[in-house]
Amino acid sequence: MKPILLFDFDSTITNVEALDLLGEQLAANGRLTAHDVAQIKHITDQGMAGEIGFGQSLEKRLDILKLQVVDLQDLIATLHHRVSESIDRNKTWFLSHSDRIWIVSSGFKEFIAPVVHRLGIEPDRILANEFVWDSRGIGHVAKASPLAHDQGKPKVVAAANFTQPVWIIGDGYTDYEIKLHGAADKFLAFTENVRRPGVADVADHVLLNLEELIELDRNA
Ligand SMILES: [Mg+2]
Repeated sequence: MKPILLFDFDSTITNVEALDLLGEQLAANGRLTAHDVAQIKHITDQGMAGEIGFGQSLEKRLDILKLQVVDLQDLIATLHHRVSESIDRNKTWFLSHSDRIWIVSSGFKEFIAPVVHRLGIEPDRILANEFVWDSRGIGHVAKASPLAHDQGKPKVVAAANFTQPVWIIGDGYTDYEIKLHGAADKFLAFTENVRRPGVADVADHVLLNLEELIELDRNA
């Protein structure tokens, strides 16, 4: 049985971390200071190093960003141009296999959906966070999703109850954790954009680009 191909978004589908990009855009517009941007990156690093939990790291970054719904337009426009090279050159492959391609991300559906729509992936195949907007129009993470908290990815993938084998393709340790917790059968480390220490070591396969996944999938 052909596998479900579950893709991470940040640094996998695109070659950038969307919240970092958003911070840079808000700084360019004068809405954030260079100190704020450095602070956001520092919190991202603390999260990746396990010094603070993911839920806390996400909340702290959104507190600094003070994101408004209009900011998403610029972000989405830029993300369209930041799709990973090998993914961009294989759009046709995505379109013809979209019935078993899903996204899992701790990013937000509001900016992921317009980007992956061009790859034939519709919102009902995206497992991601969503924004809630407060009375001042500032975006916060909707807390109901397990993805807003630590260890969210394995939980939402398990809850999707896939009946086929599941391959998770991503650049991060949290992607590997989906397999570690039994919600995926294979972890394929995607290293076209970033090769993180400790991630490639635990992968079933290390992919340099999408063509290597296409080859593995053809033989599955
Ligand atoms: Mg990633």
